[in-house]
Amino acid sequence: MFDCNNEFCCIYCGEYKTHDEQSLEHIWPSGLGGNYAPDFFRTDKVCKKCNNIAGLFVDAEFQKSQPISAELFFSFFHFLDCKNIEAVPLIFMGKSRDAPDNDEVCEFWLGPSNETIYYFRKNDEKSLNHLAKGNPISRRKDKGRVYIDFCTENFYWILLAIKSVNVFFKKAQFRSLCVFDDPKFTRFFDHETDQSSKDREFISLLKFSKTRHSYFEFPLDFGLRFQAKIALGFGYKLFGEKYLNSDYADTFRVCLKEGSFQKRNELFIYGKSLFELSNEFEKILTVPGCFTFHFGRVFDEAYLSVYLPTGKNFQIAISNEANKFSSDIFDRYGNEFAVVLVPGKKMFIGPFSSSKYYIHKQNGPKISELNELETSYRTREQLEYEIKRLSEI
Ligand SMILES: [Zn+2]
Repeated sequence: MFDCNNEFCCIYCGEYKTHDEQSLEHIWPSGLGGNYAPDFFRTDKVCKKCNNIAGLFVDAEFQKSQPISAELFFSFFHFLDCKNIEAVPLIFMGKSRDAPDNDEVCEFWLGPSNETIYYFRKNDEKSLNHLAKGNPISRRKDKGRVYIDFCTENFYWILLAIKSVNVFFKKAQFRSLCVFDDPKFTRFFDHETDQSSKDREFISLLKFSKTRHSYFEFPLDFGLRFQAKIALGFGYKLFGEKYLNSDYADTFRVCLKEGSFQKRNELFIYGKSLFELSNEFEKILTVPGCFTFHFGRVFDEAYLSVYLPTGKNFQIAISNEANKFSSDIFDRYGNEFAVVLVPGKKMFIGPFSSSKYYIHKQNGPKISELNELETSYRTREQLEYEIKRLSEI
């Protein structure tokens, strides 16, 4: 049983650890904006070992996947500042079926105005095949080579793509597939080598072949371990130490440790998968371009429902005996509350009670911060129009 009063007890592994084993865990990963959220999104009751393992195998599996890379991109893209060019994340599009070299892979990425980006890097261990860019530790030595195929002549979009690639593929060799004479752009690109002519040959084969095969991998229960991790973390933040002793919290801990998909599948975890798009009613619950979290307590169940920037949703039951635990947070907000996180704006809004939120969404009295955020949202068409107009001035 847990006795967190006297000793430090890790919420993820349930083991007693010495205080020097304690570490700061972002329940919602900092790479997805967790560092802009308040204390409720963090805990120091996680041991260093679990923090590392969760970072590499649970958070990374979720965050460095194709669908989530797109969600993160849109959380930046829709709030672009047209007068200031700042880097945005890029969208992972999978790996080439054809290998440039036996020990290398070529990844495809998509830039902000649909530029194609080719990224060459060393092959890693198969167990990390599902991660975009592969093993993050190996990438510290193997920075790779990146080529960008621009598809616009607009200054803003070209510079935005260059800046984004420079931030996203830090220190990788960087070259353009288009001819630029303008030193504003050419200063960003590296000199040609024998290797770059080999790379160019490979890219032109890909570009001009009739079919181009790319693929990405997922664990079969993609997202489940991540959902289990955040449910466990938020469960602890909502209900305290008593929650950690519940059977349901224990199921989450088993799920986190369990490597076999089949065995994870046998666990009783209640939720809804990630790939469902929100229906008409649920659109009320989505703030476009943002990560919107809805926490609720209804009779014995406590749940978390997360809406992603493009409207995809997942839900997970945090507890099936919530009536047994006290929670100051739920008491304060009448058993339901929402928070909104926007990594692209380094912004966090909330918490506010769900009733206030619904009224806001139904054109009743507005939550001013949320209103400001929603009016700063731009569709791709609006952005393109604005940027074109600014370039003409
Ligand atoms: Zn631990």
